[in-house]
Amino acid sequence: MRIGIIAAMIEEIELLKHDMQLESCDQIASRQYYTGQLYGEDSVLVFSRWGKVASAMTATTLINHYKIDRLIFLGVAGAIQDELNIGDVVIARKLYQHDMDARPLFSKHEIPLTDTVFFVADEQLSSWAEQAAKDFCHQGFKTAISNEARQEFSLTAPACYSGIIASGDAFVSNIAQKDAIIADMPEVLAVEMEGAAVAQVCYEHNIPFSVIRIISDRADHSAPVDFPKFVAQVAKYYSRDILKVLYQNIMNTATLKA
Ligand code: SAH
Repeated sequence: MRIGIIAAMIEEIELLKHDMQLESCDQIASRQYYTGQLYGEDSVLVFSRWGKVASAMTATTLINHYKIDRLIFLGVAGAIQDELNIGDVVIARKLYQHDMDARPLFSKHEIPLTDTVFFVADEQLSSWAEQAAKDFCHQGFKTAISNEARQEFSLTAPACYSGIIASGDAFVSNIAQKDAIIADMPEVLAVEMEGAAVAQVCYEHNIPFSVIRIISDRADHSAPVDFPKFVAQVAKYYSRDILKVLYQNIMNTATLKA
């Protein structure tokens, strides 16, 4: 089994690369693809850059060139619901593109010629990711993240959610943008810029995938301030530790089946 990991933060790539037994590094279309063993499993690691096109082309290369069997996407996201806090985790159950609007030819958010608005994440991968994220939120974060960072971001009891994620080519940093997303889709949990694009590529190629997002901001005027610090000091440790546990589950199941 070969797992493709797309990370949307350079800091995450650095941390995961450090844990990888690196076999090769290739440059394809301005992206560096790191192949090797990660936590005991054949893996390809890549920084996608930001936005739907950047992430879709990266996912396509992972599938066509590297022949991955599973895709895991890691990154941060803005909270859409008020009850979500910075440091919470959202595991996507399904994703849609909030900026897709081909009316009157198709209904709002429907991806032309697919008959669908939502792309559904793999249930097995996502429930393992959720379990791993819950462990991290209950216990792991206390040792993985420094005291100072936990205080600065008021990380006392982070929570893990699973549900709908909205993706689009916009950094959502004002209330009007946020309200427009909620008005269209009241149950959406978080907003980001890649997940549903990668999900569409996986859907078209029939590759099971999971999208894991750590809340870095509230998708309002404070987002540009909260975002970079959180990524540098906190989010990368979430991703690494959640991924490690998720990998254990994938490997245990592969061993059972063998
Ligand atoms: N690192 C850049 C910004 C990156 S773009 C900077 O320092 O300015 C934002 C990245 O975070 C994307 O991967 C996107 O998916 C995610 N993201 C986090 N908060 C977001 C928000 N409020 N709206 C949209 N995307 C968000």
